[in-house]
Amino acid sequence: MSAGRPLPGDVVDDAIDQPFWDACKDGVLLVYRCNTCGTSYWPAGSCTTHGMSDAGWVPATGTGRLHTWTVVHQKYSRSFTDDVKIVAVVKLDEGPFFHTNLIEVATTDLRAGLPVEVVFHTGDDDVVLPVFRVST
Ligand SMILES: [Zn+2]
Repeated sequence: MSAGRPLPGDVVDDAIDQPFWDACKDGVLLVYRCNTCGTSYWPAGSCTTHGMSDAGWVPATGTGRLHTWTVVHQKYSRSFTDDVKIVAVVKLDEGPFFHTNLIEVATTDLRAGLPVEVVFHTGDDDVVLPVFRVST
């Protein structure tokens, strides 16, 4: 673990989400899809119409649009370095809202609706986190 920074698995040992984190290590973003109606969710959850009886993880495009964000000026833990500056909500092209970090962009360039794409960062602790950057 890197300097006390909370990571997936530290908070909840959740078997249903393990395929999501495993796919991140392969550079693939997954969404949880209801196989009855095709609605995608993130994180995994019950379809609002059909429950969880027939749902599972499927690859997502990894693209979306910046929905909203906040710029972190005050770091409350030394474990969060300068790479954790923009906390964002991305509306994935599949529909779900995805909470993440936005990287490689000046805060003055941020606009709602900005097209973004996922990239994967591997930390010192071998945990791979999906973050987003402006689409190239
Ligand atoms: Zn459904």
